[in-house]
Amino acid sequence: MIDYSALLYDSKPLEIFKKDKSEGELSHAYALFGDDPDAMEWLLREMVKVAVCKKGGCGECQACRALEGGVHPDVRFYDSRLDVRDVNELLEDCAKYSVEGGLKVYVIFQLDKTLPPAQNKLLKTVEEPPEGVLFLFGIIKPAAVAETLKSRCKKLYYTGVDGQRLEEALIKEFGEGENSTRAAAYAGGNISRALKFAADEEFAMEADNVVSLLGSMQKSGAVPGEVAKLKQDKEHVTRYLDVIEIVLDMMEKYKRKLTRGGGGIAHIAQGFSFAALGQCEYLVNDCRKRLESNCAPSAVLDTLLFGILEVKYKCR
Ligand SMILES: [Zn+2]
Repeated sequence: MIDYSALLYDSKPLEIFKKDKSEGELSHAYALFGDDPDAMEWLLREMVKVAVCKKGGCGECQACRALEGGVHPDVRFYDSRLDVRDVNELLEDCAKYSVEGGLKVYVIFQLDKTLPPAQNKLLKTVEEPPEGVLFLFGIIKPAAVAETLKSRCKKLYYTGVDGQRLEEALIKEFGEGENSTRAAAYAGGNISRALKFAADEEFAMEADNVVSLLGSMQKSGAVPGEVAKLKQDKEHVTRYLDVIEIVLDMMEKYKRKLTRGGGGIAHIAQGFSFAALGQCEYLVNDCRKRLESNCAPSAVLDTLLFGILEVKYKCR
C-alpha cells in the first residue's frame, strides 16, 4: 500500500484537528471537503485516532489497538450510502453511553452519497448532539449535502498533496519508471487518481492519447478518422470519458496555477479558455447520459469530439 502517512502527515485538515484536540476545543462535528476519496478516508481515520487516544494517536494504547483491529466499541465507520433506517439506527446508538468512557465517534466517509431524507434525519442530532458525540463527515460533492447540515460542522478543506512528494511515494510503491512519473504528472496531487493511473497502464496510455489528440485536433474533418482509431464498445468509451474528464480537470488546475502541468498538459491547456473547459465538462456529462441511455458508442464519440472542437473555437 502506498505510504499515506508520508504523504499526508502534515496535511492542513489534520493539523487543525490536532490543534483543536490539544486545546480542548474539539467541535462536535467536522466536514472534510475534497475531491480525493482515498486521501480523505486516511485523514478521517487519523482524526479518529487523534480523538479517541489519550496521547493523540500513539498507535500502542488499548484504544489505538482496538481501532487498528476495527473493534473499538465507540467508533463506527460508514462507507456506503446511508438510508433513513441506517440513520435511525445511528441516532439510537448516539443516545447510549460510551463503552470506554470517551468520545463516541461516527464517521461517514461520503456524506454526499446519503440522500436528502436521511440527511434530514441526521440534521437534528448534528444540530443538538448528545454530550460526548463526535461526527466526522467526508464530502466530495458539496452541492449534494444540505446547507443546514454543512453549516453545523466545522469545515476543513483538503486540497491535495505536493506533486514531487506524490511521485516519490509512487516510485517507492510501483518502482522507478515512466508509469510512476506519468501517474504523478496526471494526478495533480490527487492520490486516488494517481493510484488508478499507476495500477493501470492502459489507462495511462489512454491519457497520453487524449492529450495528443486534444493538442493536434484542428479541423472537424479529422474527427471521423480519430473516432475510427478508438475502440467503440461501451466499456472503452466509458473509460475514454473518464480519461477526458481527468485531462480537462488537469488543464483547469494548471490554468489556475495549482499544478505544474506535466505530461503535456501545459501545452494543450493554452488552446482552451476557462469557458471552453467548463463547456467540455458539460459535454462529457451529456455523453455519459447518452451512453447510459444506450446511444451507439460510436455516435457518442462523434458527439464528444465534434463538440470539443466546436467549444474550443467558440470560446476562444
Ligand atoms: Zn493511543
